[in-house]
Amino acid sequence: MPPLSHSVTEELSKRLHQARDDLLETLRSRTGSADDDAPAIGALAHQGQSDDGAQSEMLSHNEQHLADHESALLHEIGVAIGKLESGGAGICETCGCDIPEARLMATPTVRLCIACQEQLEKDQHTGRGPSM
Ligand SMILES: [Zn+2]
Repeated sequence: MPPLSHSVTEELSKRLHQARDDLLETLRSRTGSADDDAPAIGALAHQGQSDDGAQSEMLSHNEQHLADHESALLHEIGVAIGKLESGGAGICETCGCDIPEARLMATPTVRLCIACQEQLEKDQHTGRGPSM
């Protein structure tokens, strides 16, 4: 038995599919290709040694970063949809407790209960410094 009520499951499914469509649309309009995992960034094709090249490298790095964020989000959404369909949604991945429906409605891709999420964020802040 899925821990979520049928109406909540349906609502979440609707939102996740909508979010995925929106995201795909955004990615498509930016990169010109939705099928490719790697974003097609023209600047990478002509990395020269000119000052011009350095500038477009910076720009492409920023675009790459955005695309990474979006493909990670897309992955999160895919996972959340899979869990909804398999009945595993609404269960904390760390401690196995039920995630409150209100929390899922606020953030459909959420995978952890509040306590575990807070713990994870604490770990990330202390254990892993900024990568730049
Ligand atoms: Zn938990």
